[in-house]
Amino acid sequence: MVTGSHRVFGCAANFVRGRTCVFCGSFRVNRTRRGYVKCQTCRRQKSLAKLRREIAILQGFYQQVPAYRLAHDLGVDPNVISRVYQKLRAAVFHVAELEGMASKLSGEIELDEAYFGGRRKGRRGRGAAGKSVVFGLLERDGRVYTKVVEHVSADTLMAHIQTTTRKGSVYYTDAFRGYQSLRRYGKHHTVNHSKGLVDRRTKNHINGIEGFWSFAKHILYNYRGVSKYHFPMYLKEIESRFNHRKENLFKLFLRCFFGYVSP
Ligand SMILES: [Zn+2]
Repeated sequence: MVTGSHRVFGCAANFVRGRTCVFCGSFRVNRTRRGYVKCQTCRRQKSLAKLRREIAILQGFYQQVPAYRLAHDLGVDPNVISRVYQKLRAAVFHVAELEGMASKLSGEIELDEAYFGGRRKGRRGRGAAGKSVVFGLLERDGRVYTKVVEHVSADTLMAHIQTTTRKGSVYYTDAFRGYQSLRRYGKHHTVNHSKGLVDRRTKNHINGIEGFWSFAKHILYNYRGVSKYHFPMYLKEIESRFNHRKENLFKLFLRCFFGYVSP
């Protein structure tokens, strides 16, 4: 376990001891004789043993432990682990979507597309069969927003740019033709030469979004192959991990899972 884990996981201590309500954060909690904790504020109750187990599973999720391995470590049925993981991933998905829609990206924004999964190394359009196509928008010194798209036509890209970014922003992209009509929506800089490098002439770059793609690929590698069907869920989880990377992520996952957002 990483050092400083107490700081990360300490927030769960009051829940597992039955002192705080995991649903609403109230301290008016009673312990019943049957081993349940009952909240006097929101009237909900939960088995303390089950609560402890769920929190242990959420720790595993936070540390990106694969479900089968966590099942082995905790001595719990793998289906139980998968159910908790899926429930949390769905909750994180909705929270991330809400956050993404709450305000538009602005200022300096980097745009790029990436391909995930599939066997063949694909290029735009050609050879992309079986892959998930992701359009990513990153506000410099801000957050990233991702969207799984069917294909990268100029219309699709512009539609997403208009719904997620403020008009008049400064855009950085590579020389892909799909971005041609961007200059009518804001200031558009293109990065020439190969990806990941700083344009020698203009000093323009899209290193921010490139950094996000490698962050995503690193996490997906841990999960050892994600089906195309489940991919959007995993992608939002990664987006959430990236956008909240400077905060206590475990605390965020706890809140998502139990539906409690602190004031
Ligand atoms: Zn409560």
